[in-house]
Amino acid sequence: MWRAKIITIYPEMFPGVLGYSIIGKALKDKIWSLDTINLNEFGFDKRNSIDDSPFGGGPGMVIRPDVVERAVMSILKNLKIKIPLVYMTPSGRPLNQQDIVRFSQQKGIIILCGRFEGVDIRVIDSLGFEQISIGDYVLTGGEVAAQVLVEGCVRLLPGVLGHAESILEESFSENLLEYPHYTRPKIWVDKSGNKHHVPDILVSGHHEKIKEWRKEKSIEITKKYRPDLLKK
Ligand code: SAM
Repeated sequence: MWRAKIITIYPEMFPGVLGYSIIGKALKDKIWSLDTINLNEFGFDKRNSIDDSPFGGGPGMVIRPDVVERAVMSILKNLKIKIPLVYMTPSGRPLNQQDIVRFSQQKGIIILCGRFEGVDIRVIDSLGFEQISIGDYVLTGGEVAAQVLVEGCVRLLPGVLGHAESILEESFSENLLEYPHYTRPKIWVDKSGNKHHVPDILVSGHHEKIKEWRKEKSIEITKKYRPDLLKK
């Protein structure tokens, strides 16, 4: 079973989106497991504080390294397997599908969700957290980012997707975005009376030509929206 262990000050935010659809079903079917570790239980003083003001001044609070270390140790002491530690942070390396594949092939993942100004970097370095960002924007906490990462991994676990072959064709395989999709009606008339046709090739029944057309469209869309992928 693939294990997700999430360190957060808001355990009630989980499973969140992970409780729905095929991901939620896979959780019920025990293809993967989810544990939340409440960082607030590892505070350091009478008030159980987990954060303090930043050295060097500046706004906001920073999560203390000793608090994070205690939370991580509480997980590791009962864990007989080795799984990666990931800190969700906008200063990390941007998450991509190769990372998702790599994490899904491990036995699970431990994810630290930051809050406030973030986490004292010393514990991130000393425990060997990989720093991952879900994009060039700033959220208030790492919980949504953690759910993005876990959802990406769980859908790749054997037995989760109904059509395993769809993974081979979707966006980012071969560094391409996916081709466009069409379904019924064959001619769709929008509310302004404009007719939108499905490309003839897709209803021709000619599988080889459809494959070629899809590949061309993939390249065209990738050139337009993500030329950086083609350079890889
Ligand atoms: N002071 C930080 C900065 O400027 O980079 C932002 C901290 S943010 C308000 C609080 C927490 O939200 C972070 O520690 C991180 O866990 C999470 N977070 C925010 N944006 C994120 C992103 N793009 N990717 C992953 N985690 C993010």
